[in-house]
Amino acid sequence: MTENSSLIAPTAKRLRFCRLEGKVALITGGASGIGASAARLFVGHGGKVVIADIQDNLGAALCKNIGNQDTISFIHCDVTSDSDVKNVVDSAVAKYGKLDIMFSNAGIEFSPDPRIVALDMEEVKKTFDVNLFGAFLCAKHAARVMIPAKKGSIIFTSSFAAVTSGLAPHAYTVAKYALVGFAKNLCVDLGEHGIRVNCISPAAVFTPMFRKVLGITEKQKAEELISTVAPLKGVVMEPENVAEAALYLGSDESKYMTGQNLVLDGGYSVTNPTFG
Ligand code: NAD
Repeated sequence: MTENSSLIAPTAKRLRFCRLEGKVALITGGASGIGASAARLFVGHGGKVVIADIQDNLGAALCKNIGNQDTISFIHCDVTSDSDVKNVVDSAVAKYGKLDIMFSNAGIEFSPDPRIVALDMEEVKKTFDVNLFGAFLCAKHAARVMIPAKKGSIIFTSSFAAVTSGLAPHAYTVAKYALVGFAKNLCVDLGEHGIRVNCISPAAVFTPMFRKVLGITEKQKAEELISTVAPLKGVVMEPENVAEAALYLGSDESKYMTGQNLVLDGGYSVTNPTFG
């Protein structure tokens, strides 16, 4: 080993294996799919995690599977409730001392029918409540505790529905598009406090939501449906692929990135752009 490589090696090792050492993350929608993968990955990288979800049994079981009370906890939280979101943020700070990462990821999608004549206003309101207004509450309460700490990373899960068109119901598309605008506006608001705000926009991810909404349970069938139109074939991702992006945005490796939308779609939106 040369003199230089002995200096570099410990740093490289630390970056690769403990990218969230000493950080505390709250993950909404963390009991399933992308959020559950992120919880596992974050703890694996030395982070402490609070899972916030409405699926109590699933969330509690996942925590037991991933770690112990010192590293991961589940707290019931409906992101449409101001008091639930306040409670989960305050509980995370009380338990682990601070909040570094708010991964606002909870989301729902109803019927994939994108036609306006199929519009159901109850579904529209519910979609906005969870996917958009829930993110507002998460941002508000995260900012409340991050501002005094003068640092933090807020991450929203948007969707490639926000950068393409005709793939999802109108309400889902508009809510996800709004999240991208919200991240840009919020990064200006919170930048002076050292808080970064970014979005992740994944294409199809093989999660319970995907299987339920599209009624497809075999990954191969999902790939046949989606990937023919994307430059990179096989764009039906596993939740781990999105969790890796959240890990990057939560870690200091992305410390100069804010107000951005990280699109993970195999190039689909390049060949089918809508909003630029
Ligand atoms: P999922 O259904 O596996 O997970 C979503 C989680 O959100 C569930 O655990 C659910 O209980 C939770 N949730 C729903 N309503 C909630 C509420 N009111 N309060 C708290 N938690 C609530 O689905 P997923 O695919 O992992 O979805 C995660 C995010 O990724 C969502 O925002 C979704 O819109 C987005 N997304 C998914 C895909 C995909 O193809 N699966 C693509 C792009 C974006």
